[in-house]
Amino acid sequence: MKELIKKRRKEIKENLRREFSHIKERLGRDPFLLSFSLEEEPSSEVYRKSIKKKGESLGVEVELMEGDEGQLLSLNQDPSVDGIIVHCRRENFLKHTSFISPEKDVEGVTPANLGRLMRGEEGPRPATALAVMEILKILNFPLEGKLAVIVGRSLIVGKPLIFLLLSENATVSTAHSRTRPLEAITSQADLLVVAAGRPHLIKPSMVKEKTLVVDVGINVVEGKILGDVDPEVGKKALLTPVPGGVGAFTPYMLFSNLSLLLRRKLEGKTSYSSN
Ligand code: NAP
Repeated sequence: MKELIKKRRKEIKENLRREFSHIKERLGRDPFLLSFSLEEEPSSEVYRKSIKKKGESLGVEVELMEGDEGQLLSLNQDPSVDGIIVHCRRENFLKHTSFISPEKDVEGVTPANLGRLMRGEEGPRPATALAVMEILKILNFPLEGKLAVIVGRSLIVGKPLIFLLLSENATVSTAHSRTRPLEAITSQADLLVVAAGRPHLIKPSMVKEKTLVVDVGINVVEGKILGDVDPEVGKKALLTPVPGGVGAFTPYMLFSNLSLLLRRKLEGKTSYSSN
């Protein structure tokens, strides 16, 4: 599976590079992505630097800035800013992202873009959820009629996945911290997606033989990166790796959203009120 993931990631990068080069020609400048941090979050610094490096390898100028909400508001109005990623404390995420223009929302988390997802309309989607769908595509997993169980109901992973999987005709159930007993739900799944942020939460006894298990979790424990799924699960089911699974696609999905937003802008679809 690692080889398939690597191959697909390379294709995605090449496609994005080509797309951004066309976009640059039409814009007359490099596409510009702003990574704006409202509160000091040392844990996100490595991630921000890696986004900058990836962007530059794709032909996108990425600027890392720190500031307050007023500055973010005025940069949101700046026509040379094509996309915005907001970094802040988890409890403030809804507040700080609510006023980003849907046309610049590369994370797909504004009320308008989440609404579009629910309505099945074109728009940027939360990157991690898109990365899960990418894994399903490369594994050629037929979703129609299958029972997909998602563990986790966050705004950036679990909830958007409900709609993405429904749109592919899966039957979808969602489990969370109050689901009792968790294994009664997970053991029925044909596809199990785990995004709980709990290292090795899912044990072999909780999954059916030959289920596809997509591990979204990234947990740093004593300097090691652990998924939400016990690697022993891989002996009875098909398990995506951590690291090098979903996380291999997530940052590129942000750029894929930026490319979609810029194409819409160049086609004059600046307002999300029409397709
Ligand atoms: P989150 O906002 O903390 O949400 C976690 C979800 O899991 C919540 O809905 C929570 O339920 C549920 N949960 C927690 N403990 C549980 C348990 N014991 N049993 C069942 N459900 C439980 O986390 P997130 O931002 O979605 O991230 C989830 C994981 O994905 C983290 O490890 C994160 O690092 C990782 N992640 C990976 C990528 C990637 O690219 N691979 C990207 C983003 C995040 P309640 O709603 O009831 O609290």
